[in-house]
Amino acid sequence: MKLETFKNMRILDFKSSEDKSRMSEALGKARSEFGKTYKAFIGGKWVDTNDKITSVNPANPSEVVGYVANCGEKEVDMAFDAAENAFEKWRFSKASDRAQYLVKIAKIMDERRYELDSWMVYEVGKNWMEADGDVAEAIDTLNYYAHEALRYSRGYKTYQIYGEKNEVKYIPIGTGVVIPPWNFPVAILTGMTAAAIAAGNTVLLKPASIASVIAAKVAEIFSDVGLPDGVFNFVPGSGSKIGDYLVKSPRTRFIAFTGSKDVGLRINELAANHQKGQKWIKRVILEMGGKDAIVVDETANLDTAADGVVVSAFGNQGQKCSACSRVIAVETIYDELLQKIVERAKKIKVGDTSNFENWMGPVSSEEAFKKIMSYIEIGKKEGKLVLGGSRTGNVGFFIEPTIFSDVNPNARIAQEEIFGPVLSVIKARDFDDAVDIFNSTEYGLTGGIYTKDKSRIKRAKDEFHVGNLYINRKITGAFIGVQPFGGFNMSGTDSKAGGRDYLLLFLQAKSIAEKI
Ligand code: NAP
Ligand code: MG
Repeated sequence: MKLETFKNMRILDFKSSEDKSRMSEALGKARSEFGKTYKAFIGGKWVDTNDKITSVNPANPSEVVGYVANCGEKEVDMAFDAAENAFEKWRFSKASDRAQYLVKIAKIMDERRYELDSWMVYEVGKNWMEADGDVAEAIDTLNYYAHEALRYSRGYKTYQIYGEKNEVKYIPIGTGVVIPPWNFPVAILTGMTAAAIAAGNTVLLKPASIASVIAAKVAEIFSDVGLPDGVFNFVPGSGSKIGDYLVKSPRTRFIAFTGSKDVGLRINELAANHQKGQKWIKRVILEMGGKDAIVVDETANLDTAADGVVVSAFGNQGQKCSACSRVIAVETIYDELLQKIVERAKKIKVGDTSNFENWMGPVSSEEAFKKIMSYIEIGKKEGKLVLGGSRTGNVGFFIEPTIFSDVNPNARIAQEEIFGPVLSVIKARDFDDAVDIFNSTEYGLTGGIYTKDKSRIKRAKDEFHVGNLYINRKITGAFIGVQPFGGFNMSGTDSKAGGRDYLLLFLQAKSIAEKI
């Protein structure tokens, strides 16, 4: 079977009136479907539960976007039964067949693109471009991992010795649990699930609660392509209710998690404990938070740098693991750069993103809102508030783009992930000092530098300890297959999603020697 050559999807910019009107239409349709109920999908059947997750619109929390099944241990057990059962056949399926399922899912996602975009606008407050970028990335992961499934299915040739045929082939690992975050509710959810399935495993997908309607839409697409029953199971439920149960289960062979540091570390600890009847050491793939920085030196074009900083810091309300939350500027250009950043951030339109004009929407939930506002209070003591700092509007979780200057590199707002539209601007004595500050957090996800100095670019490549480094450009928006994504230290196990090593995490190698 031949797959089409991999190519990244184009992201709609909604400049064309056709794209714009199709999106407006899709938004209207989604709104007319607010308040519907969505089920779990287990062993090829839609399953309801009495208990429901209520998912609201963060731009207007009195609006219920939808109700989603809130699974308990009973549904998880059913899903394990189905997934384990399905694995016995699926593990011997042909990689080309698995690839075809992924390609089909990608096609349907593309057809339902405006619809998926719309649900993200309403459920997590993304603007149109951010939402479309999310769907485009999901499609890319499907197409990319389809190719990767074929590539890994060929195994590799070892050195040969006389009288034997030696080879290595890759086999899947088993039934696992996929736990995505809410902030890329289509892309990351799809990517982790697709990779696991492409490698021949079977999956229990537990989405993030506040994004469980959009997750249900994606589950519907996975359920539509005729995968054998039990290969893909959608088990929505709150993390506090079934998270530990899923992770601890002796039936769990692997856990693919993307989310916060605290939850990631908890999963790591629980998964390490051997349970009665457990036959393996669980594979744990963890992608966690960041405290990502951009260094700007005196040789940089400060206008370009300020543009890159503002997009990286405030895109999706700063709720990206890759978001710039620290700017480290050398002393001589500090004031000028700060002024340029503030100037640009002031122009950002904040409001309900169902209106195309608003670039920044609400933060994702009341919990997030409170956490971010409490960090802003901490920031007022630790630095100088130069922009924002307040809620905007009376309804919805809207927070102004917020900038603190004169922040000490060791301040809490310079060390802890806030995950909101809050930027700390830090002064460095010189470039050496900037390098030290850059590497001074426990995280190591993304980072960047604006400079014209070639030797400093080289130093950034060598010394900036991050999984994803960007030079003279924004630090968000990695493309699948182009910039494999994942971080060091407390940012995770560096799984490099969208890269050639990723599928390997869902496989194990079998070395075979045959006498001839
Ligand atoms: P989160 O609160 O850690 O939740 C992530 C997922 O874990 C959700 O599905 C959540 O379910 C679940 N969960 C909660 N408690 C659990 C438990 N005890 N056991 C198992 N699962 C549990 O993170 P988030 O707020 O969704 O996402 C934001 C975080 O993700 C940020 O820290 C961000 O930096 C990080 N992130 C990292 C990357 C990366 O590639 N490194 C990418 C995107 C985001 P509920 O929703 O039901 O609680
Ligand atoms: Mg959360």
